[in-house]
Amino acid sequence: MSAKVKAERVLLPQDFVPKHYDVTITPNLVKFIFEASVDIHVDVQKSVNSVQLHSRELYIQSATFKSEGEKGFSTEATGFNYDTKMQTVTIQFEKEVPLGKGRIHIEYLGEHNNQMAGFYRSSYKDIDGQEKVMVTTQCEAIDARRILPCWDEPAAKATFGVTLVIDSHLTALSNMPERRVEYLKGGKKRVAFMDTPKMSSYLLAMCVGEFEFVQGTTQHGVLMRCYSTPGMVDRARFALDCGVKCLDLYDDYFGIAFPLPKMDMIAIPDFAAGAMENWGLVTYREVDLLVDEASATSAQRQRVCTVVTHELAHQWFGNLVTMAWWDDLWLNEGFACFLQTWAADKLHPEWQLWQQFVTSDLAAALRLDSLRSSHPIQVPIKHAHEVEEVFDAISYCKGACVIRMLNTVIGEAAFQQGLRAYFEAHKYGNTETTDLWKAWADASGMPVADLAKSWTEQMGYPVVKVDIKSETADEVELTCTQSWFLADGSEAKPDEKKTWTLPVVAASASHRDAKVQLVSDETFTLKVPCKSGEWVKVNFGHPVPMRVIYSPDLLKRLSAGVKERTLPTQDRAGLLLDCMALTNAKKLQPELLITLLNAYKGEEECVVWDAIAPALNGLHKALLSDEALSKHLRALAASLVEPAAKKVGWDAKESDGHLTKLLRQTLIALLAKFSDDEQVVAEARRRFKSVLANPADTAACPSDYRTSVYSLALKNGGRTEYEQLIGLFESLNNNADRKQVLHALGFGPTEELKTAALDWTTSGAVKLQDFFYTIASVSTSNRMGQRLAWSYFKKNVDKYRKMIGKANPSLMHAVIVYSTYGNTEEHAAEVEQFFKEHPIPGTDRRVQQVLESIRVAAGFANFLRSSSIANDAFWASL
Ligand SMILES: [Zn+2]
Repeated sequence: MSAKVKAERVLLPQDFVPKHYDVTITPNLVKFIFEASVDIHVDVQKSVNSVQLHSRELYIQSATFKSEGEKGFSTEATGFNYDTKMQTVTIQFEKEVPLGKGRIHIEYLGEHNNQMAGFYRSSYKDIDGQEKVMVTTQCEAIDARRILPCWDEPAAKATFGVTLVIDSHLTALSNMPERRVEYLKGGKKRVAFMDTPKMSSYLLAMCVGEFEFVQGTTQHGVLMRCYSTPGMVDRARFALDCGVKCLDLYDDYFGIAFPLPKMDMIAIPDFAAGAMENWGLVTYREVDLLVDEASATSAQRQRVCTVVTHELAHQWFGNLVTMAWWDDLWLNEGFACFLQTWAADKLHPEWQLWQQFVTSDLAAALRLDSLRSSHPIQVPIKHAHEVEEVFDAISYCKGACVIRMLNTVIGEAAFQQGLRAYFEAHKYGNTETTDLWKAWADASGMPVADLAKSWTEQMGYPVVKVDIKSETADEVELTCTQSWFLADGSEAKPDEKKTWTLPVVAASASHRDAKVQLVSDETFTLKVPCKSGEWVKVNFGHPVPMRVIYSPDLLKRLSAGVKERTLPTQDRAGLLLDCMALTNAKKLQPELLITLLNAYKGEEECVVWDAIAPALNGLHKALLSDEALSKHLRALAASLVEPAAKKVGWDAKESDGHLTKLLRQTLIALLAKFSDDEQVVAEARRRFKSVLANPADTAACPSDYRTSVYSLALKNGGRTEYEQLIGLFESLNNNADRKQVLHALGFGPTEELKTAALDWTTSGAVKLQDFFYTIASVSTSNRMGQRLAWSYFKKNVDKYRKMIGKANPSLMHAVIVYSTYGNTEEHAAEVEQFFKEHPIPGTDRRVQQVLESIRVAAGFANFLRSSSIANDAFWASL
């Protein structure tokens, strides 16, 4: 970041430097007001008579400053000035405080809100059906200030000594192990925890409630416990096993042992995000930590494992070494996303997670980053609250893609050596992106900063156009041109032109051992050893976040490689994703896309189906309003899906591997959408009945595709099935199982039932963390659902705003995204006008992205309808 951008950051005055916080809190699980005091050990850098700290929704009762340098000096506070907009409090002292060491003592009150931020309350029903409450914390990004007055900035690292005064029968957890427990009169106990290492305030954590745990010890001697509310703890064993193994992996890989004496993970009944990496006490959404061995889907297992490996990666990347300011958030998230796959792949190589990366992280990054309303990985953040809008696929997924690309370029050995040097040099400190580049440049001798700059400092990514320049019997020479890829197909204006430093990896059917070449010119040539007429693939293995557009001849050869399965799995997947995006952008003729799609007949790989499914769904959505074209597409889709689904079957087999189960889930969802075979509906009905009779019978209806079974039963049923689903939801005691119901509830055949689903999920019957799943279900169910979700949003925007309140802004982002699906210019104009008249603070960037996506979808639909696929003859020729 430039000096100018840095100078514009809104920070607290630097008169005081915090060194240590001793915070004592008495939570109240009945009245939800906590009493607290904090002693902040500070270095006074400038003699002043006031101090400004972050504070939000705290009521300060008294404050004193005592000097350690000037003996006997103390001064009382005379006033507290709250700035609610800046979320600060300025404490005015009677006298000017002297330079040197001192302590600020503050007595205050705070609230256990129900907004999943700060020191909040979370409720659940215990095994006897009794309503129970626990309190827990969520500080990232800027809610530590709702727990204690503090310097709530990532660079203001300090140590924290936490003490909690609680009812004796409850358990208290924090970042560190207990130091001392003292039993008090009145059935209370005072639990004092050891001091944390130097850390940022956003990593502070406390939980108080009735918990159970399972535990294990890593080979390196760290005690790890996995907590849940009572009665659920057996479901924590899978995550514990992943966690114990993963911590050892990271210890060995980073060369720095996990620095805390213990590592706890806990499932929280109400949780806004997926998980939070608090140092030594990671908090999770229940579905992201707990796995019911008997009923969990393969997707759930994979999700839990990768969330655990993600959060544990943060214990080093983020916690031990932290970004200096929020504009380098990607350093935390991009890295954790890369490592989550790296570590989970080591634990479960049979899951083929690096292949899946192409259809998950890479696909998500390329989708968002092709919009003009995207942002660079390194994004200037002036005020800390702006960071909430960049917890997105750019920071997470594109960040991970760039790290993976650099790993390919500098090689595994230099990558690891650089990382080790980086941790050693910066442990307990703060860094900027350039520090990491330097460590890798030193380790590899390569110009890492120059290479990485074009990917992190400018938004977007290139599309490379590839043509054959010349060809001999054993070599092909390609002409390549790179330009900025935009989702709507528009060209960069002359003053917007940009290029990237591209690591190019090109291979052919007979020469797959491709070397990486670095290219930064706009136009360049490549020589690839290749037998005449065989396929040639640029970005082989998809190590670089970019698109490739091939000449029709080259695409034809690749299409043959798809048909014959000589093109490797991740390239078959990546090629289709590229071609779909290029057709969306009107850069590839629809008939070429459909012809390619047709080559996937007989495909059996799960990862490739993860690319076929979004292609079919995207085309389906674009052609919905065109009956004739829709029919052709459905026929093509059925011809692809039905044989594959038949092979995998509805019934789980003993021999099914993880990927087969994932594939069954994908195929049955596609079957539900595209097959007109009455057998499919009958099968779904039969299995729905078996779930109603006994939800625990996963042999009769495997969990992997229950969402599809529920939606098919509801879509082809009515009020009865709707009520049965609500009853099922209420009878289930597992959030993962309930989530499957919420995902299906919007598929009712009538407007009345869809509205009922939205009313019900926003009535308080469903937790705030979960209600948006049903909005997604309504808007993706059919065109009527799409329109309804939007009109419901318009009518109920105040209700949504009130519900979400000051909770995590990501919830409002999700509601906006799911409520605004559509693909016409008129819809975009209407959405735009609505948000102009009803702006929702903190959602500008998301609204811009939504508008742009609708317009891209509108352009795509028109492009398809005016192309040669509009002729019946084209489909007959397939
Ligand atoms: Zn993370």
